[in-house]
Amino acid sequence: MTVVAMDELDPATVQGLVARASDPQRERWLQQVRRTGACRHPVRLRGVVLHGDEPVYSTASEPDGALMVRCGNRREACCPSCAHEYRGDMWQLVYAGLAGGRKGVPEQVAEHPQVFASLTAPSFGAVHSRPDDGRPCRCGRRHDADDPQLGEAIDPATYDYEGAVLWNWHAPALWNRFIIELVRVLAARARLSEREWRQRVRVAFAKVAEFQARGLVHFHAIVRLDGAQDRATAPGVTISPEELCAAIREAAASARLDGDAGDGQTTDIRFGEQLHTRVLAGAEDGRELNPGQVAAYVAKYSCKASHEQITSHDTDPDRWRDRGIPEQLVQMAAAALRLTERPGLRGLGRWVHMLGFRGHFVTKSHGYSTTLGELRAARATYRARQDQPPDNAEVNDDDSTVVLSVWQYLGSGYLNPGDLLLAAGVEASLRAAREALLDLRRGPP
Ligand SMILES: [Zn+2]
Ligand SMILES: [Zn+2]
Repeated sequence: MTVVAMDELDPATVQGLVARASDPQRERWLQQVRRTGACRHPVRLRGVVLHGDEPVYSTASEPDGALMVRCGNRREACCPSCAHEYRGDMWQLVYAGLAGGRKGVPEQVAEHPQVFASLTAPSFGAVHSRPDDGRPCRCGRRHDADDPQLGEAIDPATYDYEGAVLWNWHAPALWNRFIIELVRVLAARARLSEREWRQRVRVAFAKVAEFQARGLVHFHAIVRLDGAQDRATAPGVTISPEELCAAIREAAASARLDGDAGDGQTTDIRFGEQLHTRVLAGAEDGRELNPGQVAAYVAKYSCKASHEQITSHDTDPDRWRDRGIPEQLVQMAAAALRLTERPGLRGLGRWVHMLGFRGHFVTKSHGYSTTLGELRAARATYRARQDQPPDNAEVNDDDSTVVLSVWQYLGSGYLNPGDLLLAAGVEASLRAAREALLDLRRGPP
């Protein structure tokens, strides 16, 4: 527990703390903060819920006349609590697709061939790194795991930043090409036409995009084969998980596209040589990773995003540096800015802050698992039963009475630094409770 002496605080904070301490509704206010999971930037709403003509809820009786709801930001640096909730949803989504038997996903999918694959970007020049085998970096030094230089070009003068940004720009299309190639490879291995193969098997996948320190995107994907008509049935072609791994390698090596370089030229877009595949399920005894581990891994990467500190609102590399953005990412963003001057790449201007990557961080094929929307709806319904009013600001009742809710946006974040400090205290206690719960679940060591 942190004890802060009042005289260390600035006057605005003290004023806020005193105001909340003397607020007769402070308990309800704390309850609201807890319900948002101590969100860092809660959205404050004013509104009423009418059940027929009868007002059943109004924010008029709430502290400050407002209801606080989660900001919903999935970035850890912006809001740890909402990012945690998002990670939990991702975990559920991935786990249901892997293990089956939950969230409406049939349990049979657990028996289907499933592989966890990581597809990387090629090299655009040597960067400072920590080789797995303990060798020193190519610069001759050994870097600590938290060395900010990791991922930075060893020779910025020769590093192909523009090529790297173009790769990010075309990466979503390259992934689509990879899936097409995978079907072609698997059909050829089964000595079937692609059409015949598609009538028997469907490729289902969930993937997350992860930014590496060097500013390039990697894809981590779970690839599963189901029956073509019904995901509860086994694929209509016998394929072992090991064969699926081999097919993924072959497809990743041959997938390529002529990426528009924006200046009338094209550039060859391919995956890098680093490719990892691991069997997940469906092997006789070859299960290398358990579904819980993989789900946790994918969920973790769904929230990692240091590059998002570079925003498109300003375009001055020196100001990015002032904000502590690593030099490699500054160089990548500067290259993205230069590329937007090419006639065919004007659209890249909206994605400078993403270093050219315009894909979604999490994508999945139809039928892989449940959806984030379904998970959110289930949680909102659960909360609505437990606590009025519901977080989703909609009441769905089974009876036929029309329920109307009207909401108005008041603002986001806490009203003053005093409230923010109190919310930080709630956040710390919620985190401690969560960790204690995790220890309980793990059981004695
Ligand atoms: Zn939040
Ligand atoms: Zn180095």
